Amino acid sequence: MRQAMGNKEILVVEDNPQNLELVEFLLEEAGYAVRSARDAGELRGEIERGLPALILMDIQLPGIDGLTLVKEIRQRPDADGVPIVALTAHAMRGDRARFLAEGCDGYISKPINIATFAGEVGEYLGSA
Ligand code: MN
Repeated sequence: MRQAMGNKEILVVEDNPQNLELVEFLLEEAGYAVRSARDAGELRGEIERGLPALILMDIQLPGIDGLTLVKEIRQRPDADGVPIVALTAHAMRGDRARFLAEGCDGYISKPINIATFAGEVGEYLGSA
């Protein structure tokens, strides 16, 4: 059953065009509005346009990495309530604790599970 998500806006930070396209497709299919950024500069620009309901953050980015950007976002008091979910292809033991310590609310491993991805994202929004 398709649920209306109140047009909640998700900002996806992802440098890989295929991954970005897939994530955008799955989230839009689930009823979310999606904005995207491919690097630190684009992310800062998108945040200046307004804070989204949730940020999906690829950890492996060119230049400034995702966790550094999470720390930067967490320095903004106005972004306190915005969940940040890490996307990573290299989740290893200890990574979850590290992501949480850096200010993420959790993480989703890549390759993403097409069947469950939008639902996983929704859980982070539900708890916000
Ligand atoms: Mn990447």
